[in-house]
Amino acid sequence: MSAPLLAIENLTRDYALRGTGGATRHLRAVDGVSLDVEAGSIYAVVGESGCGKSTLARIVMALDRPTGGTVRLGGDDLFALPPRALARKRRDFQMVFQDPYGSLNPRHSVGRIVAEPLHLLDDAPRGREREALVARALADVGLPASAAVRYPHEFSGGQRQRIAIARALITNPKLVVADEAVSALDLSIQAQILRLILSLRDRHGLTVLFITHNIGVVDEIADRVGVMQAGRLVETGPVREVLDHPREAYTRRLLDAEPTLAVLGQRRRAQGESARAL
Ligand code: ADP
Ligand code: MG
Repeated sequence: MSAPLLAIENLTRDYALRGTGGATRHLRAVDGVSLDVEAGSIYAVVGESGCGKSTLARIVMALDRPTGGTVRLGGDDLFALPPRALARKRRDFQMVFQDPYGSLNPRHSVGRIVAEPLHLLDDAPRGREREALVARALADVGLPASAAVRYPHEFSGGQRQRIAIARALITNPKLVVADEAVSALDLSIQAQILRLILSLRDRHGLTVLFITHNIGVVDEIADRVGVMQAGRLVETGPVREVLDHPREAYTRRLLDAEPTLAVLGQRRRAQGESARAL
């Protein structure tokens, strides 16, 4: 079997919390997380708010350093790379954030926003070449090239998230980390963005670490899932297996709180049957 694109091993992140009287406590936000993501697949990390998902995402993006453990991308240990090599590597992994309003600079044109990560390339394209790359990234997310000269406020939440995804795609990354990328959107718009992410996986072989508090969307998008509770992955496996036969009470609680669309459909059918039986 080929090596996974992303291999996280025994990852830990402690935060120092200054208590009253200068005493320092530690909070273990991520606690011994290991997971592998195969190239061209979507791995969902799901768990309640505060369980450590964003901390994990920031470390995978090398925006924060772990207290212990390793993150390997394409075989390279990110935190063992010299700074220049890490800077070069950054083109291979890009992030999409939750807030489609706050994550785009309102004073910059969409073209400038989408082109921003191009500075990560050694020979950053300019002029026509840069415009063509922006147009291609916009087309990839279903937006017209003319969007480049417009500004974020001219777009809806779903369109803004498409712009954020175009920005993530512009360096032709191997991995995209999406942290609650659809959580702020209406259900119907969520479904559109999920379909877009799936089609990017299918068209470009994109690998996605998809982070969400909503287990209901995992079913729609992910190949594998890791369920996170208080910094630890408590249950992992293929999505169908974990959602249909959850082993952990915590996973069942998440499912009860946010039923998947399939479960909602089953319930509706069951209700229809019992209504007919009356
Ligand atoms: P999630 O994204 O799952 O909601 P986070 O990774 O944001 O969780 O947070 C996990 C835990 O770490 C929470 O208890 C949070 O308060 C804490 N935390 C996150 N960032 C920091 C920080 N910079 N300093 C101290 N504690 C933090
Ligand atoms: Mg978070």
